[in-house]
Amino acid sequence: MKYANVIVDISLEKLDRTFQYRVPDELEASIREGMQVLVPFGNGRRVLTAYVVELTDECEWDPERVKDIIGIPERGIPLEGQLIALASWMRRMYGSTMNQALKTVLPVRKAVREKVKKSLVLAVSWEEAEKYLAFFEKKHQKARLRILEALLKEERLDYTAAVKDLGLTAQTTKALEELGLVRLETDTVFRNPVKPSEVQPHPVKLYPRQQETVDSILKRAAEGDRRPSLIHGVTGSGKTEIYMELIAAVLEEGKQAVVLIPEIALTFQTVLRFYKRFGDLVSIMHSRLSAGERYDQFERARKGEVRVMIGPRSALFTPFDKLGIIVIDEEHEGSYKSETVPRYHARETAIERARMSGAFVVLGSATPSVDSYEKARIGDYQLYELPLRVPGRTLPDTEIVDLREELRMGNRSIFSARLRELIEDRLAKKQQIMLFLNRRGYAGFVSCRACGHVIKCPHCDVSLSLHTGGRMICHYCGYQSAAPKKCPSCGSSYIGAFRAGTQQVTELAAREFPGARVLRMDFDTTKQKGGHERILEAFSRHEADILVGTQMIVKGHDFPGVTLVGILAADLSLYAGDYHASERTFQLLTQAAGRAGRGAEKGTAVIQTYSPDHYSVKAAAAQDYESFFRQEMEYRRLMQYPPAAHLLGLYLMSEKEDELERGAQVIKELALQALKEMEKSGDAKAEIQVIGPAEAGVSKLRDVYRRVLYLKGSSLPALLAWKERIEPELDHREELRILNIQFDMDPVNPF
Ligand code: ADP
Ligand code: ZN
Ligand code: ZN
Repeated sequence: MKYANVIVDISLEKLDRTFQYRVPDELEASIREGMQVLVPFGNGRRVLTAYVVELTDECEWDPERVKDIIGIPERGIPLEGQLIALASWMRRMYGSTMNQALKTVLPVRKAVREKVKKSLVLAVSWEEAEKYLAFFEKKHQKARLRILEALLKEERLDYTAAVKDLGLTAQTTKALEELGLVRLETDTVFRNPVKPSEVQPHPVKLYPRQQETVDSILKRAAEGDRRPSLIHGVTGSGKTEIYMELIAAVLEEGKQAVVLIPEIALTFQTVLRFYKRFGDLVSIMHSRLSAGERYDQFERARKGEVRVMIGPRSALFTPFDKLGIIVIDEEHEGSYKSETVPRYHARETAIERARMSGAFVVLGSATPSVDSYEKARIGDYQLYELPLRVPGRTLPDTEIVDLREELRMGNRSIFSARLRELIEDRLAKKQQIMLFLNRRGYAGFVSCRACGHVIKCPHCDVSLSLHTGGRMICHYCGYQSAAPKKCPSCGSSYIGAFRAGTQQVTELAAREFPGARVLRMDFDTTKQKGGHERILEAFSRHEADILVGTQMIVKGHDFPGVTLVGILAADLSLYAGDYHASERTFQLLTQAAGRAGRGAEKGTAVIQTYSPDHYSVKAAAAQDYESFFRQEMEYRRLMQYPPAAHLLGLYLMSEKEDELERGAQVIKELALQALKEMEKSGDAKAEIQVIGPAEAGVSKLRDVYRRVLYLKGSSLPALLAWKERIEPELDHREELRILNIQFDMDPVNPF
């Protein structure tokens, strides 16, 4: 590596602007991406500190005019350097430009700061505030009195409004701030809902199993065992209490904590628990924050005002200088995989960041990802099992209903006789019901309602998707065939596309159960801001008896009134046409079933399906993770899907279908050629298979056509070496210029 690309300033505008310097021989051994270096700037008079963002053999300028790096400052790798090094790792691992990776990880400032909303918050307890109230009254300090009175009513005042309505001045603000009475906050969206007097730092006394887990994780961390911990514990087994105890220990050491939770679970209920325990040290990030608000959050973290950052994936890049722990709750969630370039996985990236900063990683889930559980099985992660719910909470009874049987009995409705009977029972008892349609927004698969047979790709063992004109397509390899008129397995003519919608179910439920109040929650009814919360709140106030919804309804909310959960057709996610379908189904069914019986009453879950013998369905009904895992791993090994091997997706997009088609073929040839060369030079001992090109699951989106190509291989280094080799080619070939090409290492969400 003879050359270094550096940036001299970390701001959004300047990330694009890198400068190239030569790495002198004496520095070659010690220089790394992310390091600060001293470089001559301008006409060589000025010496600036810059960050190395990339090391390369390629000289992009006239070699005569490229200057040498002067040296490395003594300071070691600064925080930004760590994040730059992380970006560099992400670029290599997931495929993107360095610039895209930098923009993902750096808390970049904008040259022009946007205006942020400020508010004035009460910073003392009520008793104390009231003492001041009396004091101001006595002293006739009217302005202060007015503000404090308003604050006692509202707890928080919008700054601009207070200036306008209460005559608040900068002077008064300053005076109150100096007294420690108020605080100015810019964090507008997720405010701290807990008054200082309500913070209860005194934790619950952990149950023995929880305490053992905490002790073991801390002991291993102290001994330098850097393997991530995976806590497998059913919902309500006390994982969150364990996280909080670990975080408390980390804070005690003067370090900081990042807690990742899926956006959808980032609810008031969860956040409140962290605020109650850690007070103002906690801050929240979520995707609705503007760039400016995000930057402010990061600044507060950098200054040490915030020491526990909670949020979805991007909270991972909080610029903490002494990061002690990264917790990833619900680690199996698909949302931890980014769907924009670089398509990083937050779990793997967290482990890399923790490695760089000496933090430890704790993963938790009731239904761990097959990836993580396999890593625990082979000893890469340390596994902790919490098989029981904390006392007072029981698991629901689960029943499987065979829909083929219903058809035989002449019942063609979406409600089986058993489910109908239970719904009527619950309605009579004034208890609540959730009906769940685990649909992925996808073209349907083709199945037989008489025998349950599903048409699959003969090469990839995933369901074929039905497209217009009766074509069935494999979204991995492109295999196509015509939809059959009769079931190839039993000859029945009850074969066809499997379709069901929430709206249809809602209407049907209202018709079949007159008098029942039915609410619907899906993408359509939650489009407006706050739609999500509104529906859930109405349901929790028992303003409806039945809630019909998609996966949205199964996550992160407790409804003690719900004693029946109906999963209308497990098949919908089971045959989604990608290799995660069974895993996702097991997770969804387990979670959905877990919604029943959160309160005092024991709940029942009913799983309707045409595939009652499928291992995902059976294992979910039996709440038997182990059994699911064993069978799923067998399938992954047999078909060489991750984690048994690695799969590298190439996603190709263009507005012109024919050029996309041609481009895909060119890339396939380039791919095969690169592999041949690698084999010749002895680089690619591990076999790599090229699959496709095929139409993507969503074959056209907003007028852009989409194709996919996959590389499958057991060696990650070999796949990465192939990617490094092909990336410049993809940039240089004229006929590929018009394509948008993205990599996806070990895809989680179907493209
Ligand atoms: P999980 O995160 O696994 O779903 P939680 O940590 O949320 O589980 O625990 C479930 C419920 O049990 C919560 O209401 C929590 O406050 C309570 N709980 C957990 N551990 C204890 C404990 N040691 N003592 C008392 N209550 C506990
Ligand atoms: Zn059949
Ligand atoms: Zn196929």
